[in-house]
Amino acid sequence: MKASSLNIAELIQFSPGFVGIQGRRLLIHDLSSLSQFRRDLIESIGQNMARRILTRKGLFWGQADSAGMQRLFNWKDKNEWMMAAVELIEIMGMAKAEVTKLVLEEKTIEIEIQCTDSVEVEQHQIEFGISSNPVCWVMAGYLSGYASYCLGQDIYFSESQCQGTKASNCAFIGKNLSSWGNAINLELPFFFAEDIQKKVRQLTSRISEQQRELAKKYKLLKSVQKSSDSIGIETRSKAYRNVLDLAYRVASFDTTILITGETGAGKEVLARRIHEISNRSKYPFLAVNCSALPESLLENELFGHKAGAFTGARNKEIGLFEAAQQGTIFLDEIGDISLATQVKLLRFLQSKEIKPVGETKPQLLDVRIISATNLDLDMLVKEGRFRKDLLYRLRVLQITVPPLRERPDDILPLARHFLEKFQHKLKISSLRLSTDTVDLLLNYQWPGNVRELENAMEHAAILSTDGLITPESLPGAISGRTASFTSSQGQKSLKQIETEHICSILEQTAGNRAETARILKISESTLYRRLRSLNILEKNINRW
Ligand SMILES: [Zn+2]
Repeated sequence: MKASSLNIAELIQFSPGFVGIQGRRLLIHDLSSLSQFRRDLIESIGQNMARRILTRKGLFWGQADSAGMQRLFNWKDKNEWMMAAVELIEIMGMAKAEVTKLVLEEKTIEIEIQCTDSVEVEQHQIEFGISSNPVCWVMAGYLSGYASYCLGQDIYFSESQCQGTKASNCAFIGKNLSSWGNAINLELPFFFAEDIQKKVRQLTSRISEQQRELAKKYKLLKSVQKSSDSIGIETRSKAYRNVLDLAYRVASFDTTILITGETGAGKEVLARRIHEISNRSKYPFLAVNCSALPESLLENELFGHKAGAFTGARNKEIGLFEAAQQGTIFLDEIGDISLATQVKLLRFLQSKEIKPVGETKPQLLDVRIISATNLDLDMLVKEGRFRKDLLYRLRVLQITVPPLRERPDDILPLARHFLEKFQHKLKISSLRLSTDTVDLLLNYQWPGNVRELENAMEHAAILSTDGLITPESLPGAISGRTASFTSSQGQKSLKQIETEHICSILEQTAGNRAETARILKISESTLYRRLRSLNILEKNINRW
């Protein structure tokens, strides 16, 4: 039997309810519905998966036709059996086709088939128009299935050009794997089934993994934002809400602001927030505690010095004012600066000029000053310890931060805010307040304000058992344990009790001696003498 002898009329059988080709049933099918099916397939599972399914449809079809041809006829040789494929392609209306090259050798197999008027080109064009890649996927599968069955080894056909891309004809090249080498690698997957369920499972697990990572990152981000978020800036109390409103309103006016309020009430936090919402937010916010440094060092810190300005000043050093250029400088405890430094500060406020130590030429700077104090500056003016003209310039606007005991609504939210912070910092799984702790926190007077609350929560977090903050885990001043001299404390000497009491107040005020002296109702110099005589200073020199 020769391929060219195949006759359509002989092959196709028609009878009611049955169309066949030599006993095998065929289905005459409307093309437009196939085109729509192809579109649905591509749109629902994507082009690659659709191509895979259609290629495999062709593969099974080609295998079945090849087997049918083998059963029906006695072929002169494999070449004729192979060439019968193009006759079938034409008989079934898939395309006009011809074999243009046929090399069937032991090691080398190379078949070239050219087609025109492919039914798939038409299908694809009806739905999608001109394509950028070959579209005869069923045909490539059909030829591969037919040839593989006929030649007894895996043959893969690739469409090298296609009328669907506006080429003059479609061309298919078929080779065995060894003849293809790596050139077929990209197309090979289209001939194999893929377990879509498995793929979906893999994708689902990848998505949930990414979601977990995102959640982790988001949580991290949230905690970073929270920790940088100012302590006590969120508020439920009306008194503090008014303070914030005022701060928001004045932030963008470039005036000096004096923030007053007790130690630990959150004056620096407020200053920082004003800077953040001002037009200077892109530039530095630098804070300095004026009471922490002796006069000579403070001046150097603020204004810098020229090289050789004094013994040990080998290099020029810029001061905080210069470093804060275009930003904000926050001068805490402004009431503690010396009269000499006050003069320099006044000079800056009048002329925007500073003169580094040892320098003769003044330097022009643009820096906003926000200062803060817990002292009565008017009183200091009366006593001659603070310049009146400087006070007026610093206090163009005054904001008073209320002490924590005047905004009790904020105590618990703040306590929980700090617990959350220490939970992250100390890596404790969850920290919560017991009901008696809540009572204690609400009834305590908080002389050290927000800072004391923060310190107390850190103290309690460290001493908590299983994350529960009980009265026992709070500092003695809050739980009332040091205040009540029970029998167990009866053994202590007066010196011990005095030491503990002073230390606990220093703890509350974060080492602020002026504030400690005020609470103890003694002068600062008396406090200093007591600290010396009780050896507190030596022991805690690094702490306070
Ligand atoms: Zn094509």
